[in-house]
Amino acid sequence: MIVKEYAEMLNAKSVIREMSAFAAERGKKIGYENVFDYSLGNPSVPVPEKLRTKIAKLALEGNPMEVYGYSPTLGIPAVREKVAASLKKRFGVPYEGKHIFMTSGAAGALAHAFRCVLNKGDEILTFAPYFSEYGPYTKPVADLRVVPADTEKFQINFEAFASMMNEKVAAVLVNSPNNPSGTVYSEETIQKMADFLRKKQEEYGHDIYIISDEPYREILFDGTVVPYIPKYYENTIVCYSFSKSISLPGGRIGYVAVSPACKDAELLINMCGQISRGIGHNCPTSLMQLAVAEILDETSDMSVYEKNMNLLYETLTDLGFTCVKPKGTFYIFPKALEADATAFCKKALNYDLVLVPGDGFGCPGYFRMAYCIDTEKVERSLPVLRKFVEAEYPSR
Ligand code: PLP
Repeated sequence: MIVKEYAEMLNAKSVIREMSAFAAERGKKIGYENVFDYSLGNPSVPVPEKLRTKIAKLALEGNPMEVYGYSPTLGIPAVREKVAASLKKRFGVPYEGKHIFMTSGAAGALAHAFRCVLNKGDEILTFAPYFSEYGPYTKPVADLRVVPADTEKFQINFEAFASMMNEKVAAVLVNSPNNPSGTVYSEETIQKMADFLRKKQEEYGHDIYIISDEPYREILFDGTVVPYIPKYYENTIVCYSFSKSISLPGGRIGYVAVSPACKDAELLINMCGQISRGIGHNCPTSLMQLAVAEILDETSDMSVYEKNMNLLYETLTDLGFTCVKPKGTFYIFPKALEADATAFCKKALNYDLVLVPGDGFGCPGYFRMAYCIDTEKVERSLPVLRKFVEAEYPSR
């Protein structure tokens, strides 16, 4: 018999994918250059030249047993050591190789982190707006409950958070810089969350983990600094990805880093190896592990994202949108000009503006624009955005 749970998930299609499919279809008719496709978070800046050269060199000249052979279950030891050393240098947290587990991107890292600390019947809390894939990611493991958004600043709605906290909560899933809002949780927010969770751990007599999903950690604007959560909270599991910072989503590479201050750090990393066996994930390719280990402290040139953000933010606010200015990522999350953001986004399609309604991000009434596209296209989209708004919402 087929497994109904997954068959039923087919009905809950990803709105992001649907919007992106629309853009592709429309592009066939009018030319993709004429479709203002703000749907997908697919990085648009090139992979660093140094990495491409390294990949080519490894593929052609590397030790075949190392490059094409099975990687150890937890990842190549030298790579784990290098990741740990880089994190230690950058954030001052005393990681060692034994705290690192190599994965297929952030999705792979999260799949392991969830299975490490969530038992059946446990709850995991996350904060709206949140990455819509968290639903399917957590579904086989535990109950995901979403704390309503602080729509004023897109920080954390602590009142709602406190009211939803209960003994069943085993983990809190945090994503900063945030997809879809582009905001960065301030030090005050992180400190407050850490203090609150420490108190709750004591009260309930069990650990509560922060699972910190950080694929956008390096995409920051205007000198913003992201507080590094393991410095504030011992039971932190960081899930990182190279998909965005070096434009390598097809490389499928990332890692789990368990804070050395977590008393079960080594155990959790070793458990990741066992979880891999259970879910058939095994290791990411040896080639990618070896390649990214050479550029751990570098990123693509991502200045275009900030440029695009400023262009959009200026126009959107000028047009009367309520919008929190992003501090990072390549997303912006304004309030729609009518309560039903899906209806708003549907109207925008008539102008070949492809936007994604916020409902799937746990924040109805808002919409997301992924501006990881050429600046030239952003510039061409601005008069179209103006035309759409002035025609459809003249008395906004
Ligand atoms: N988490 C967030 C917040 C994301 O936006 C994404 C991808 O867009 C992922 C996780 C998955 O990233 P990866 O491609 O590394 O699996």
